[in-house]
Amino acid sequence: MSTSLSGAAAAFDGGLRPLGSGVFAWIQPDGGWGESNAGLVVGDGASAVIDTPWDQRLARGMLGAMAEHTDGAPVRLAVNTHSDGDHWWGNAELPESTTIVTSKESLAAMKEEAPPKELARLRRLAGISGKVPGRSGEMGRYVRSMLGPFDFKGVQLRLPEETYEGRSTEHVGGRALELRTVGPAHTLGDLVVHVPDAGVVFAADILFVGVTPVMWAGPVSNWIAALDLLLELDADTIVPGHGPVCGPDGVRAMRDYWTWLEEAVLMQHRFGHSARQATLEIVRSDGFGAYRDWLLPERMVISVTAMLRHMAGKGRVPHTAAMRAALFDQVSIVKRTLAEA
Ligand SMILES: [Zn+2]
Repeated sequence: MSTSLSGAAAAFDGGLRPLGSGVFAWIQPDGGWGESNAGLVVGDGASAVIDTPWDQRLARGMLGAMAEHTDGAPVRLAVNTHSDGDHWWGNAELPESTTIVTSKESLAAMKEEAPPKELARLRRLAGISGKVPGRSGEMGRYVRSMLGPFDFKGVQLRLPEETYEGRSTEHVGGRALELRTVGPAHTLGDLVVHVPDAGVVFAADILFVGVTPVMWAGPVSNWIAALDLLLELDADTIVPGHGPVCGPDGVRAMRDYWTWLEEAVLMQHRFGHSARQATLEIVRSDGFGAYRDWLLPERMVISVTAMLRHMAGKGRVPHTAAMRAALFDQVSIVKRTLAEA
């Protein structure tokens, strides 16, 4: 039986899932914060890995599970789909001879990310502030449960060595991997990986299944365009960044979510509501019914913040520690309000 990283019984099976034609998904239930998926494409005498988990213990676990396939086909190539740590901080566990590739925009964003020791510190501080009873300890408790399962102290960063712009075809063991930059959407440099000979797409965090997505960057129009591209690729199997493997229906569900949310946020923008007020009104509306069961509904406030800023012509949410702290404060408040409702 699978468990989530918090140790609870998992909502769906995790581990290395064969998708046919020597392609595998590495699935981490339940698809919540840091419970990120990855992938493996095995070619003739060489393999490619798509993304690595958030810390080195998890990365070792993943590469260990892949070993029966990669012993005869070493990992020559790794692709990092975007700059969030839960998709590349495990890179140092890859063989030294592996070439790591990402988009030009993601590499730049990776260099801007708060380093692992900063997250280790935040995790420790959240443990302390979370002990404060009542509302003052709320954000601490939220961040503690989010970062609790991970060991950031041991993380050695290894940045990708190669970048590309727009579109690139990578070859490994006689197979082609098509890399397409689709960001800025979830982050500044999101890319998806299409394996045409297997009919599989690794959508990374352009797709969340059964989990509330987070839009750090936007605009939402780019995200919807990225989902349209995924559908155009006409793959039978799509591996989301978080949640179980799906078919095109999963992509359409995500597209419906953004289309609905964009309209709902636009109305809130006209009312001049704050992100928190807007989020609370949206989750109380009838339209939310379809998404009520998705994990972590409180994260909607992050996307609403980004969307309201775009609508007001203020550009992207600044990528600063203070802004992140303010966002997590909002997230914890929305979570409590939802629990009280
Ligand atoms: Zn992720």
